[in-house]
Amino acid sequence: MRIESDCNFDVNLVRQDFPILSKQMNGKPLVYLDSAASTQKPKSVINAITDLYSNYYANIHRGVYLLSQLSTDKYEEARLAVKKYINAQSEKEIIFTRGATESLNLIAYSYGRYFLNEGDEIIVTEMEHHANIVPWQQLAKEKKLVLRYIPMNDNGELLLDEYEKMLSNKTKIVSVVHISNSLGTINPVKYIFDKAKEFGAVTVLDASQSIQHTQIDVQRLNCDFLAFSGHKIYGPTGIGVLYGKLDLLKKMEPYQTGGDMILSVTFERTLFAEVPGKFEAGTQNIEGAIGLGAAINYVNNLGIENIAKYEHSLLDYATSRVLEIPQVKIIGTAQEKASVISFIIEDVHPHDVGTIFDKLGVAVRTGQHCTEPVMRHFNIPATTRASFAFYNTIDDINVFINSIKEVISIFD
Ligand code: PMP
Repeated sequence: MRIESDCNFDVNLVRQDFPILSKQMNGKPLVYLDSAASTQKPKSVINAITDLYSNYYANIHRGVYLLSQLSTDKYEEARLAVKKYINAQSEKEIIFTRGATESLNLIAYSYGRYFLNEGDEIIVTEMEHHANIVPWQQLAKEKKLVLRYIPMNDNGELLLDEYEKMLSNKTKIVSVVHISNSLGTINPVKYIFDKAKEFGAVTVLDASQSIQHTQIDVQRLNCDFLAFSGHKIYGPTGIGVLYGKLDLLKKMEPYQTGGDMILSVTFERTLFAEVPGKFEAGTQNIEGAIGLGAAINYVNNLGIENIAKYEHSLLDYATSRVLEIPQVKIIGTAQEKASVISFIIEDVHPHDVGTIFDKLGVAVRTGQHCTEPVMRHFNIPATTRASFAFYNTIDDINVFINSIKEVISIFD
């Protein structure tokens, strides 16, 4: 089909890099449409982890012996790969965490707790994942801060006029999701952050759903902090990244304390290690970081622009096919969208949709997608969400469309 020949890589070859994609589920070929929840892993990531355990595994930053130096080098190479991928100024600005959730909690704890005062304001949006709401709510409760939410319209687009009215000298943090995981909206974060900077606010980007779909340049975007999870960009679970501007990281307190994050400990006092060590307490997820480095190399080899272009064609095709079915309503119809179709089928609960899809080999997500305020906005209990990655094909989408039709015929 036109879309696949448009693409700068061979999707069928790419699929062979992902062993899981050739599996059967419930006797049907797997059609994996849940990449927004977690992406599948290419062989290069799986092999990088096996290679570590088979050939050079040891604890990092400690041993003077060769094995420990080899694993330390690979761990630090992964940090460099992340630095380059997001165009940070220094590798010291890259901190490995457990995932986006931990990265956002770290900012709230180590920055918010020490630098915000009673009456200060934090702005997030109505479409945030809970991971970018709850840490700020907790902080607001503790420090008597005001938490504001940029509202959105019924297409799932932020009301920027309302945002601009909210900004004032009291605004200290503006934390925004780049691409919504439940609506697919791509937010104009550069504009949002430029406005925030006019008031001197610190800017935070939740890149959990954009890091794998679009080029990110932290310097161009004017963002002070950025958070993402490795498992959403074809890497392992349990590893994530916090990017932070060096001057901010230097003045922040540690999030956790213990081994490896210190320079010196006596009974009386502790001197902390330099950034990023100060924020990496205890034995780190060594295989996670190395796997993430391999995942970023994989994405770089395909080219993020090629990925974005192909996924956009998939989304356009899928959207046009879904729109042909009158019983289906798409939730999230922003002008700028990426890789997600959330929808409801008239008179069918999303959990029933998901269960029938599963019997047909189609993996989708059903529920609130950790965005309960979004569901409230649309006055619905849940949606079914299909999310696409570069390893999906036109055939996958055709199976998806036929599965919707099957659900409708069963409930008719
Ligand atoms: N933000 C967004 C937009 C997300 O989609 C997710 C994961 N669904 C998170 C934050 C949290 O990521 P994790 O659970 O990997 O920490």
